[in-house]
Amino acid sequence: MLTAASLPHCAVCGAIVPASMLTGPAACPACAVRSMAEAAAADHLTALLTPIIQQWAAHWVEAGLSSSTLASLLELEGNQWAFTDPLGSLNTQPPC
Ligand SMILES: [Zn+2]
Repeated sequence: MLTAASLPHCAVCGAIVPASMLTGPAACPACAVRSMAEAAAADHLTALLTPIIQQWAAHWVEAGLSSSTLASLLELEGNQWAFTDPLGSLNTQPPC
């Protein structure tokens, strides 16, 4: 006998999903789409930032900072973005 506990669940959101609709590692279609969008956003961000980060790192390594220091600064910057609204930060107008 099937019970709610024995029905297939999305591993991400927990929704009960017919087994035929589970994709990838047991994700429902909505979670699978969101996961693919997140992966695409991450790839896009990497593509945009790579030349900037490489130029920034080359400058500061030349100035004497270590790679580990620069990695820490990047981590701090990433955490800073995590606690702000990225769109709000981008929409900040400079003071007149
Ligand atoms: Zn889901």
